Order: sequence, then structure tokens, then C-alpha cells
Amino acid sequence: MNGWILIKNGRVIDPSQKVDKVQDVLIRDGKIEALGVGLSLPKETLGRTVDATNTIVTPGWVDIHVHLREPGGSHKETILTGSRAAGAGGFTSVACMANTKPVNDNAYITNYILQKAAAESDINVFPIGAISKGLAGEELAEIGSMWEAGIVAISDDGKTLMNAYLMRKALDYSKRFDITVVSHCEDSCLKGRGVMNEGFNSARFGLRGIPKASEEIIVARDIQLAELTGARLHIAHVSTKRSVELIREAKRRGIRVTAEATPHHLTLTDEVVGTYDTNTKVAPPLREQEDVDALLEGFADGTIDALASDHAPHSVEEKEVEYDLAEFGMVGLETAMPLYLQAAIKKGISLSRMIEAMTIAPSQVIGIPRGTLKVGAAADITVFDPSVKIKVDKTKFKSKSQNTPFHGWELPGKVCYTIVSGKVVFAAEGGSL
Ligand SMILES: [Zn+2]
Repeated sequence: MNGWILIKNGRVIDPSQKVDKVQDVLIRDGKIEALGVGLSLPKETLGRTVDATNTIVTPGWVDIHVHLREPGGSHKETILTGSRAAGAGGFTSVACMANTKPVNDNAYITNYILQKAAAESDINVFPIGAISKGLAGEELAEIGSMWEAGIVAISDDGKTLMNAYLMRKALDYSKRFDITVVSHCEDSCLKGRGVMNEGFNSARFGLRGIPKASEEIIVARDIQLAELTGARLHIAHVSTKRSVELIREAKRRGIRVTAEATPHHLTLTDEVVGTYDTNTKVAPPLREQEDVDALLEGFADGTIDALASDHAPHSVEEKEVEYDLAEFGMVGLETAMPLYLQAAIKKGISLSRMIEAMTIAPSQVIGIPRGTLKVGAAADITVFDPSVKIKVDKTKFKSKSQNTPFHGWELPGKVCYTIVSGKVVFAAEGGSL
């Protein structure tokens, strides 16, 4: 996009450059032109000025775990609606998981997603390819040709690749392209037909449990395989205390492992399943307070590198059924930041650490050139106001789906502007543009 934009007087937090200072950001033709105090638009240019006084200006937020559902699930979400939800949530880049129908396990589907995103999406969409063909866990997907088409990582997310031999092969092969293997960690045999965390509450509520060990076994296995192969492993949606410990230990030993946590695992315990609201049914399931505490600890100390929503839209028909029968997952893009912020405030985590986990850290996990306001970088910028309280209203979501347990919650933090390559793709009501 051509032209100039000057974002004035915001508190600019850019952890990629260790910047935290009230100053201006100047954008030229979709790129960051300058950061500094007292900047002005060059004379004789038709630029726009955004007054960011008393708000926070950061690199555009990056969500590396999103289900856009297209192709094949357009009754739940499309690339268009999912991108709008991302923009409204302050996200300028998302990585979309491969469990579409058909699965993104070949270059044809990767190209389809990229072309659709180029035509319909205001934000950056980075496809993740499948590890195994059809997510069946039997043979490797066409990783090389998908990589040439533009995938940024591989994952069978939604399912766990149970075959350790194939996982080793995938990790080995991933090194050829220096891409990250993202692991959804739930031993499917141990999980069985469980629907919530196994423990006191599953007994109380009369629902089948999923033991924490089902996650931890795969986290441990994949860390061992990352060590064996030297490949880059990323653990998706960590949910248990022991998983956090395993990852912390692995990092200490120099294994190339990164991890993410979701807004819901940082916020909710399995206590809320007692409402039998199927929007609380997620995979991995909501756990217990000691797990939430350990995740917050991991978020604070960087063991949990990145925050990711696991935005998983489902239609009313798929959710308004018995708890046992409902699909796993909740939407997340439009409530993610306020939930992260609430968690950060509660735990005393700095804004800078929170922004790092939403910008440069996730960008590095999947190796994309985003999450920074360095001069010359794409002008992806999010402006938000942490002092404003919002009330979650699912009927106002841009997402096609409304499966959230947070409807009606009052939370801190309001997105003011979302800017992608110098183009304002979202402005809150009352915004000046
Ligand atoms: Zn998953």
C-alpha cells in the first residue's frame, strides 16, 4: 500500500528491539520508515495521522495456532471470516492448521489456501501443512512440495501422530527445510473417549476423563525425538504442570523445543465443565488450578514461548448437543488478548513479556519475518488500550462461529487499530480513521 501514516505519541512496545518508550511510528508504503520522538509527515505528502496518546503501539500480533476451516468447513468459518475475526482481535498474521477437508497435505491445497487468502484476506495467512497424509498417521504428507508452495511448519494438529517411527522421520525430514514440527500431544489410546480432565471433577460431573499423562507421555516422547534428530519441535497448547516441567528441562538441556499456551488453559479450570456448557470442551481439556499456575509460571519465565488462541470455530449444531457428543474446541481470536492481559495482570507479568509472546516469539517459532517494528519491516502494527474494560459479546463476533464460554465476561484490554502492511484493516468504533 502506498502512502504515509504517522502514529503519534503511543507507548511503543517492541520486544524484538527491547523498545518500551512513548514515541511515534512512521509508515511509508507499507513498511516501517522510522521510530522516534517528534516525527512528522514529510511536507507535501498526503499522509494520515493516528493519535495513539495513552494507548500502546506494538508489532502486529501473530497467532500461530488457528483453524480457518477452509476448505471443507465453511459453515464454521472461512478464510474471509476468520481473517476478519483475527483483525478485530488485533492479529495481523495467523498460521492455519492443516486439518481442513481435504487435509492440507499436498501443494494443491496449500496453493488453494494461499490464493484464497491473497484474494479475500486483509491479514497475513501462513499455512501449516500436515505431517501425515490425510492426518492418518501412516505415511508422510508431501512435505517438500508443500514447502515449495509456501507452508511455514508441519503439524497433524487436531490429532496426535501416534507412530513414533513416523514422527522421527518427520522430524528428520523437517531439517531439510528448517521448518518446525508442531505437535498436538494427546496419546489417543490413553485419551480414549474421554471428554474432560480426569480427576475429582470428572467423577463429580459423571463425565469420562482424560488423564494428564496422555499429554505428558507425548510431550516426553517428542522431546526425546527432538533430541535424537536435532530438529525443531513446537509443543502446541500445553495444558499440564508436568508438561511445563518437561519443556523447561528440555530447554535447559539445549534441545530445540518451543511451546505455546492458549487463553483458555491460562484462565479456566475443569471446574467450569460443571455447567455442562459444551463450549468448555477442548482438546487438550481444561485442567486444574495447579496446572493453570504452572502455565502462568511458564508464560512468565519464557518456558512457554508463545501465546496462541487455538481458534477452533464450530457451528451451533455441533456444539448444542450432549457433552459427550460435542466437538472439541472454542473460538479464540476475538477474546485472546483480553484473556492474556487478564492473566498477565493477575500473575504480575509485564506488558513487554506479554507482547513478546504475541509477536516476535511466535514469529520465531515458525520462522516468519513478522513481529517487529524494525525499520524496513512490513508495517504490521496493533494499537490497543489496556486500561479500557470490554464486555465479551459473542453476537458481535466477526467469526462465523460463536462457540465461546466467555460470553458476558468483563475483561481488560481493547484493540484500537489493526494495521497490516500499512493498511488499517480494523478500527474500533470511535476510532479516528
Ligand atoms: Zn491441537
